[in-house]
Amino acid sequence: MENYEVMKQILDEIKANDKIIISRHFRPDGDAIGSTKGLQRILKLTFPQKDIRLINEDYSDYLAFLGGEDAQQDDEFYKDALVIMIDTGTIDRSSNKKVELAKKIIKIDHHIDDKPYGDISWVEELRSSACEMIAHFYLTFKDELKIDSEAANYIYLGMVTDSGRFKYRDTSAETLRNAAAMLDFGFDTESMYAHLDLEDIKNLRYKSFVLSNIKLTENGVAYIYITKRIQKKFGITTEQASNAVSYLQSIKGSLLWLAFIDGPDGKIRVRLRSRFVTVQELATNYRGGGHACASGATLLKKSEIKLLLKDADARIKDYKDNNEGWI
Ligand code: AMP
Repeated sequence: MENYEVMKQILDEIKANDKIIISRHFRPDGDAIGSTKGLQRILKLTFPQKDIRLINEDYSDYLAFLGGEDAQQDDEFYKDALVIMIDTGTIDRSSNKKVELAKKIIKIDHHIDDKPYGDISWVEELRSSACEMIAHFYLTFKDELKIDSEAANYIYLGMVTDSGRFKYRDTSAETLRNAAAMLDFGFDTESMYAHLDLEDIKNLRYKSFVLSNIKLTENGVAYIYITKRIQKKFGITTEQASNAVSYLQSIKGSLLWLAFIDGPDGKIRVRLRSRFVTVQELATNYRGGGHACASGATLLKKSEIKLLLKDADARIKDYKDNNEGWI
């Protein structure tokens, strides 16, 4: 099996350490939270004598229904700890700024491996989610590891969200087999989807605003810029405002769509999504990165919006001129 050796090394490290700290990327999504909470639960069930903590410094309101995490500790606490970073492409994207103080770091991730880190690194860029990797890890060593419906639910949730409800291209037959294996442990998917999909009326009014204000470049790049003023007008958080990107996804002929969101730090967050074409390279040109069809970037000033749009439009023109079969 292709990655068996590295997974075995990870299991051996887990067995050899009594203090394990699990962390993820900042601005967490369902996959970041599901994979870390899922692994923490599996390890706690399997090794009740070990100290296994999930420590981060920022959280998601939208996913608060999944429950809390552990408190940050002083620097000393890290010195004899093993850190497992999940779903975090580069170490500077860690939500926990103390992870580099640890004795050893293990990286488990499915982002494009631009800046490798960690003493042990298990990266599979074609996996639909980090949660899928945790499901695969569990299933590979299921004779030695324990799981329950709570852990399986965390993992399943991240698989569902990061694969766009199993719709994105990297959803493989194995993804579905791994998901099915999690479902075998039994949990309430109706309640899970209700938590994920229902929105309050304030958000729906905001969605209606976004849909009415979508802009298109000459070659079909859809975009919207959500200023601080708009966020204030709708009484929504920056996290809620950032959902704008998902409202732009179903326009025919628009292969790439972008949401620009004013952040509290004065910078502009860019969320980039695409079908058929790749956005990762574009994101990398603007202090970002991520996956082929879902990336993020950061702009330092408003004038960069124009530059990025020009760049995106040229790429789409080139793609459309040279390819067939896109919609
Ligand atoms: P987002 O639009 O922030 O949800 O990001 C989409 C994907 O790209 C997620 O998997 C992020 O972890 C990743 N990503 C976002 N911003 C960056 C960045 N600046 N550098 C590398 N990866 C990023």
